[in-house]
Amino acid sequence: MEQHHNFINGKWQPAEGGRRYAIRNPAKPDQLLGEFPSSTVADVDAAVSAAAGAAREWARVPGPQRGAILSRFAQLLEASKMELGRIVTLEMGKPLGEAAGEVGRAATEARFSAGEASRLDGHTFASERAGFSCSTVLEPLGVIAAISPWNFPVVAPVRKVAPALACGNTTVLKPASLTPWSAAFIVKLFESAGVPPGVVNLVIGSGGVIGDRLVDDPRVGGITFTGSTAVGVPLNERAARRLAKVQLELGGKNPAVVVDHDDLDGAAREIVSAALQCSGQRCTALSRVIVAENQADALVEKLLAQVNRIKVGDGLDEKTTMGPLSSKSQLETVERYVKLGLEGGAKLLAGGRRLVDDPDREGYFYAPTVFDHVTPDSPLALEEIFGPVLPVIRVRGFEEALEVANSTRYGLAAALFTSKMKYAHAFAETVQAGMIHINHGTASQAHVPFGGVKESGLGAYSIGHTAKDFFTNLKAVYVKWE
Ligand code: NAP
Repeated sequence: MEQHHNFINGKWQPAEGGRRYAIRNPAKPDQLLGEFPSSTVADVDAAVSAAAGAAREWARVPGPQRGAILSRFAQLLEASKMELGRIVTLEMGKPLGEAAGEVGRAATEARFSAGEASRLDGHTFASERAGFSCSTVLEPLGVIAAISPWNFPVVAPVRKVAPALACGNTTVLKPASLTPWSAAFIVKLFESAGVPPGVVNLVIGSGGVIGDRLVDDPRVGGITFTGSTAVGVPLNERAARRLAKVQLELGGKNPAVVVDHDDLDGAAREIVSAALQCSGQRCTALSRVIVAENQADALVEKLLAQVNRIKVGDGLDEKTTMGPLSSKSQLETVERYVKLGLEGGAKLLAGGRRLVDDPDREGYFYAPTVFDHVTPDSPLALEEIFGPVLPVIRVRGFEEALEVANSTRYGLAAALFTSKMKYAHAFAETVQAGMIHINHGTASQAHVPFGGVKESGLGAYSIGHTAKDFFTNLKAVYVKWE
């Protein structure tokens, strides 16, 4: 079995002490995919030392030159679409088309970051005093710790490392334990693109073992974390002890509201796609449908028609439109919520069961699941399940729909399907979410700020021009020149 390593100061190396762990294909858990380092805090220390050592010189590389390296990286990434896409499918299960699409999206975001390296603009100000100039510049934070989840094993690390580098920072990437292979592949591409030693470092291992060390190290100027709210909140508390800058991208419970809509077929198509892509394991997945009673029966029928078209299987099979869940623990979480839904009296209309007898051998496959008549206080309606489960909540009309939409602790994305412009405006104004989508699913674009409010996120939005608000500090410079 192939052995992979950490990347520290330009060298691929095993974890201190040599411990390793294996990852498995969630579609065929018998298949071991490779061995990866179980890093220790000593590896974190070495990686942070390497990043700190390289920080000054990298910050001095002119922005456009850093951008040129990132452009090369983006090209290499684009060219690896199918090869890296296949790795993504093998290690976390999403269908190959989705996985290759993710790589393409990451390349587009990297190209945007490459351009941003030439747009690190400041301002000049009129001076109160004669013979003075006053201006602001953006400067890097130094070392960035980038902690990423498994559901977007390519986009999430690239969305952190590329803008960090563009802004003149060095990085230590800690990918999810489930998806280290994609991360190692990406770091090889940074190396091939000409990123100098120490500028990008990779430490693979359990967040529970090495995460605190990374967060606590005073040489780490900023921590960008994407993952669950359960891990993100204590991480933020910890970082706050030393006032480290933090960017959190956390969970979601994203509503799809349907009220007075002329195109229920289109709405059902968009909702099911946004709900069940990646087996529902997307932070922006639509994970509750809130529909006005007068259109509920018709919409539910159309949702079921869409769900029935889904082909669950191995993501490498080209007929597959939905892969397995990414791990046994995700499968068990979904089963737990389905049980809660049934106990709470929701009406199961589709799915609600594993598709295999022995998931440990046959894969973590779960049927796409639809519940109707879910009450707004049900765990199905309030909590992030992160699986292929779509609860339908019936409401009297638009006002009640808004109330229900805002009734969770999350505020990431929200969609409205309506033919009435007045609802579109009221929805965009009233719904507590970082991203609002009218008449389409929750698909974001590669240059538009991305983030959430309430317990879905904290700090500057990632992607687009706001990324540099996190990856730089503002410095005011006064010069007396007379
Ligand atoms: P997770 O369990 O919170 O893990 C995220 C990352 O944090 C992993 O690398 C994990 O390492 C690491 N980690 C775990 N404990 C840590 C600690 N004490 N200190 C520092 N790092 C630690 O989340 P996940 O299950 O990978 O991802 C799914 C979650 O991510 C969902 O809630 C989803 O909504 C959210 N997400 C949000 C966005 C967004 O943009 N808002 C995007 C994608 C995903 P290990 O893997 O080694 O445990």
